[in-house]
Amino acid sequence: MKNIFKEQNLKHQDKKLEWKDIQSEMKKKFGLDIYDSWLKKIVFVDEFNNYILISVPTRFIRDWITSRYLDQILSIIQIYKKEINRIEFSIKEKIVDQNDSKNILNNDVEKNISFIKDSFLQYNRFDQNKNFENFVIGSSNKLAFEASKKVTQDLSYYNPLYLYGGVGMGKTHLLNAIGLNLKEKNRVMFISAERFMYHFVKSIKSNEMVKFKDYFRNTDVLLIDDIQFMNGKEAMQEEFFHTFNALIDKRSQIIVSADRPPNKLTRIQERIKSRFSGGLVIDIQNTDFDLRYKIINSKIHELKLFNSIQANISEEIKKFICSEIRTSIRELVGALNRIISFSRIYNKVPSLPETKTILKDLLNLPENKVTIDVIQKSVCEFFKISKNEMLSSRRSRYLVRPRQTAIYLSKILTSKSLPEIGRAFSNRDHTTVIHSVKTIEKLREEDKELNFNIDNLKSKILYNNQNEI
Ligand code: ADP
Ligand code: MG
Repeated sequence: MKNIFKEQNLKHQDKKLEWKDIQSEMKKKFGLDIYDSWLKKIVFVDEFNNYILISVPTRFIRDWITSRYLDQILSIIQIYKKEINRIEFSIKEKIVDQNDSKNILNNDVEKNISFIKDSFLQYNRFDQNKNFENFVIGSSNKLAFEASKKVTQDLSYYNPLYLYGGVGMGKTHLLNAIGLNLKEKNRVMFISAERFMYHFVKSIKSNEMVKFKDYFRNTDVLLIDDIQFMNGKEAMQEEFFHTFNALIDKRSQIIVSADRPPNKLTRIQERIKSRFSGGLVIDIQNTDFDLRYKIINSKIHELKLFNSIQANISEEIKKFICSEIRTSIRELVGALNRIISFSRIYNKVPSLPETKTILKDLLNLPENKVTIDVIQKSVCEFFKISKNEMLSSRRSRYLVRPRQTAIYLSKILTSKSLPEIGRAFSNRDHTTVIHSVKTIEKLREEDKELNFNIDNLKSKILYNNQNEI
């Protein structure tokens, strides 16, 4: 029990975050224009163990801030408080100023007979925009979608249902959709594992453990998001396990999401993992181009429908973002939002080069990913020499050209500095690097065959690299 109290004490450490500090850092970092248009609208709500809660007036602003500034805002916050590793948003439409947000929280506490119940409810809100109807189905998520639907038609058919997949792949969307669908007729509880822990600790502290148990054990449907965050906390796992068993015994439905399969969960009790594995375990795989393309079209359609905005994005650009942004659907949607904001601000659809600029930080264009190592390997292969020979100090002609070529390609295909390139070639001096680059540039003009070979090598390196992604 000791640990739990320690954790609770961490909630507000000695130093509280001063939002004013963060605001002035943001002004410095992003400039007044950006600050006034977007960041000023952020209202600081509260600070927890390792995350802070802020609120903004609309979803649009949230998405905009998330996709463009959030990482940097987090780094600013971490200067003041390094424990914070996450920023959570709530959407509050009419918050007038900073002081108001505190009042809202305090009033809630005073008004409600049972704070604990209310605080669960606060997190039990469903997002109307994440439903089954607007969940786009492709081969990677079809099974997960069907199992989720099945659960809503036939409670405890699959129990528990365990969905897992990478970040931004639609897990929360599906859990939310299940909840939305069932909440009219059932008692539904939707909570992230992290918040479950938070309430657990809080209930112990305020002697409300009985209520806590009752509350969870009285639900018909328990949706727990991101269970991987439950790792470690022994006492909580114990409680969770009991709740879990009690619910399954009375045939309540449990749906769990995670970023990995049950057997890969770390620091979670074996018996919990094995109960998860005992239900239906389904993964959401990475998206393919077709699904991304369908999602983009569906989002554009939604936007046109609800906001009647100009969303005439060209096929070229749609295809560009679908082929470039593959890591998560969240980023894909974020990219689309940026393009749409651009169209609103400039009253025109961006061109491809403009799109590349707007999305620069999201794109992993092949030229950004080529490493010196890849270049060295490809060049060695091409000239049929070994890497040791390339890196040696021998000056035979058959080694000098390939070495210069590799150095030249490192300069033009990576963003490494001259000294960095020198170091990757057995600590050669940066003047050697300059010399090699100049030599090859000159030779390319004079020697057609060499020029042709280098072009070939270059596309081979870029192409291979792209295929490895
Ligand atoms: P995860 O919980 O897996 O990290 P989310 O469910 O939060 O991912 O999804 C990230 C974003 O992508 C959300 O805005 C969600 O609505 C959207 N999204 C994910 N998958 C789909 C899909 N198949 N169709 C439509 N939107 C999706
Ligand atoms: Mg999620």
